[in-house]
Amino acid sequence: MFIQPSALRLLTVHAHPDDESSKGAATLARYAAQEVDVMVATFTGGERGSVLNPALDRPGVRADLARIRWQEMAAASEILGVRQRFLGFTDSGLPGPDEPLPEDCFALLPTAVAAEPLIALIREFRPQVVVTYDETGGYPHPDHVMTHRVTVEAFEAAADPDRFPAAGEPWQAAKLYYHLALSRAWFRTMHEAMTARGVDSSMGELLADWPDTPPALATTTRIRCAEQFAVRDAALLAHATQIQPGAGFMAHPRDIECEVWPTEDYHLARSLVETTLPESDLFAGLRPGEEHG
Ligand SMILES: [Zn+2]
Repeated sequence: MFIQPSALRLLTVHAHPDDESSKGAATLARYAAQEVDVMVATFTGGERGSVLNPALDRPGVRADLARIRWQEMAAASEILGVRQRFLGFTDSGLPGPDEPLPEDCFALLPTAVAAEPLIALIREFRPQVVVTYDETGGYPHPDHVMTHRVTVEAFEAAADPDRFPAAGEPWQAAKLYYHLALSRAWFRTMHEAMTARGVDSSMGELLADWPDTPPALATTTRIRCAEQFAVRDAALLAHATQIQPGAGFMAHPRDIECEVWPTEDYHLARSLVETTLPESDLFAGLRPGEEHG
């Protein structure tokens, strides 16, 4: 069968509002601009997040954070040109090493309970491509690790007619990818490029503490999306309580990033279609004229 371009659908699954804008956002904007139907699924409302923008860290904002983050998410979706669905679970927060997770939180749910709304969404939206985090979560937050586990489970279970029969008609997505955002190689390349151009880099300390071991997952797929970095940044800034303008990820010069690292990178974890590595397109093997399944 051949899939027409307008029938290409990309689902990206995240833990909290803002994660879609900090991991793979330029990719989403690029595909949305090509009229791929892009859906962001967000497991939790981010209600236990901190206010990371000092300008907005005041009691009124903290007390109303759930509603504010909902609005920020809507603004970011509009900027990226994507649809978005909250899956209805509660943020686990980021407890200290000896602190227990809150009882009602997403990360403590049985995988099957957490997977059902995502399975229903996969069966309704019918994506060919699903993107989520690797098994480390990409970031040591219990909701991110849980997001990986539940999404892998849902990718399989959505296709199985015997599982979750009340959650819609079975759908087999063709490819599953993991984000490789903010790798050590990215920080090293940016740090060296900034230093060589006489620009102050605050990344040296972080790199010095980061063991230079080979990455666990190979980069199989690089999406050129420097043209969409400005859209990515606008989406990030729409999460105003979570982003301090000019600091952290917002600090490095965009022209240098566009020059030395103009891609967002992925690991192809599963594929039910033929594809040749390395890829430059998440839909490689699924484009019109290419055999599918
Ligand atoms: Zn998150």
